[in-house]
Amino acid sequence: MRYGIFSDVHSNLEAFEAVIGAYRKEAIDKYLCVGDVVGYGADPQSCIERVKVLGALVVAGNHDWACIDLLSLDYFSPNAGSAILWTRANLRDNDRLFLRSLKLVYENQDLTLVHGALNNPREFAYMEDADAAEESFGLMRTRICFVGHTHVPASFIKDKNNRIYYHRQISFYLNQDNKYIVNVGSVGQPRDRNPYAAYCIYDTDRKEIQIKRVSYDIETARKKIIDAGLLRSLGDRLVIGK
Ligand code: ZN
Repeated sequence: MRYGIFSDVHSNLEAFEAVIGAYRKEAIDKYLCVGDVVGYGADPQSCIERVKVLGALVVAGNHDWACIDLLSLDYFSPNAGSAILWTRANLRDNDRLFLRSLKLVYENQDLTLVHGALNNPREFAYMEDADAAEESFGLMRTRICFVGHTHVPASFIKDKNNRIYYHRQISFYLNQDNKYIVNVGSVGQPRDRNPYAAYCIYDTDRKEIQIKRVSYDIETARKKIIDAGLLRSLGDRLVIGK
């Protein structure tokens, strides 16, 4: 089984189309999205459409929830909050229904998905170091869990002695003695100073994780954000990937 796992599209259609194009060359069996389809960018409707066409299984992110009033704006920075207000005004009823249908956690025989962390998933905690990963490891019933939310590709490894390591290493083979939490990075707003769109492939036969990057038309995505009346800084950050 080859899973295509991606996160944090954030209404960036140019980045998402580049990732979909890259996935088409990868013989993917099933697409999974770790949340935040919308928020920040200028194309929420089209990004929801693309996710549906892919047949992706999607879990809810904090922006997805805030855009349908399931999460308070108090959670967000002023910049993020202003983008949520814009997105709320630019969704159709169908889009709201789709976002409302998303669950917070998904689990199958191969893997678990959650946007932030498994402990209190509706609080969307940020998993940025080994300590923050400990509770989620304790709650996992599968050997591997995929997350998003920080927009920084990374992995956490818990070894057979229960030690947890944080790695920025993003392509590796699974060792059967370990458990893993993999952050797949962001399609539409990378924050690791690499502006290219991130996407992950998990091959269960080869026991291999790969996170790849693909270039896209950043200038068009940036210009659309500014032309839509969203904050200029939300467009400018795409250029530096931060
Ligand atoms: Zn996000």
